[in-house]
Amino acid sequence: MSTANGTPPLLEVLRLRKHFPLRGGVLQRIHAWVRAVDDVSFDVYPAETLGIVGESGCGKSTLARLILRLIEPDAGTVRFAGEDVRGASPPRMKRLRRDMQLVFQDPYASLNPRLTIEDAVAFSLLVHGTPRAEARERARAMLGRVGLDPRLYARRYAHELSGGQRQRVNIARALVLDPRLLVLDEPVSALDKSVQAQVLNLLQELKAERALTYVFISHDLNVIEYVSGRVLVMYLGEVVETGTADALARSPKHPYTQALFASAPSLDPDRRMERPPLAGDPPNPIDPPSGCRFRTRCAFAMPRCAEAPPALRQVGATHEVACYLYEAEAAVAP
Ligand code: SF4
Repeated sequence: MSTANGTPPLLEVLRLRKHFPLRGGVLQRIHAWVRAVDDVSFDVYPAETLGIVGESGCGKSTLARLILRLIEPDAGTVRFAGEDVRGASPPRMKRLRRDMQLVFQDPYASLNPRLTIEDAVAFSLLVHGTPRAEARERARAMLGRVGLDPRLYARRYAHELSGGQRQRVNIARALVLDPRLLVLDEPVSALDKSVQAQVLNLLQELKAERALTYVFISHDLNVIEYVSGRVLVMYLGEVVETGTADALARSPKHPYTQALFASAPSLDPDRRMERPPLAGDPPNPIDPPSGCRFRTRCAFAMPRCAEAPPALRQVGATHEVACYLYEAEAAVAP
């Protein structure tokens, strides 16, 4: 698949699946499976931001780790710049790990408490064979770029920094390797609102400066809308809707997406919706409902919704939805 101007995707995810076994009893036999990611497909184009949104437990973080091959999928393919990540040889995988970096949610847990932040940022350069003096120099320059003056911060430890400063260190650590793709897993969720805005703005600046491509994962629809060009909505391990951020904000189709918008009211009065916000917790991913997984919380559920899962269907030029309510619309979509 390629864009209208013929640019091939930087990242292609095809029918990715990951189920985790639950073991129990003396023999530790498998007695159930957690269906974390089920048949998920999408493309990400160079220099775009794809936002992935859904409640906690919907499989977003597992998806992030599958993309970076930190865990192995049960099925499906991840291709980066046309190359199958799963089949990469160890030296090639080392190169791919430079090109694809992950920024985690918890900025404290992901920093080694025994390293100064300068050493934490320089560490990945050393692993990739950069001489120590050069690694240190590049680490200091990167710290400066993320707003941490190296003269003040380079020799400090993670516990001496605020949450926002620690997340800046993590961003510096990811970017010092000059990656092409950043997978950001809830990067601002642990931060205060005012600090969130500063870190989001920094991420936007860095993206423009370095022509980066982002996969941005969050449960917060306002954050996703702010940073994303396209959005993918996940529910219980599956993609239920995908489209441009504008199309989804203007006309969310799936009842779950509508509920997410209703639960995250906009300041724009034209955007306020009359629908009730989402109630209750998502069902257990160990034993998801048959058919459409959203049916136990859906106000429009029909008998057929229990029979078979609805497929993603095109309802606009770049807008797809998995819901039986839109079958007629999908049939005439361009
Ligand atoms: Fe609701 Fe049925 Fe659509 Fe699922 S397929 S979102 S249950 S109407």
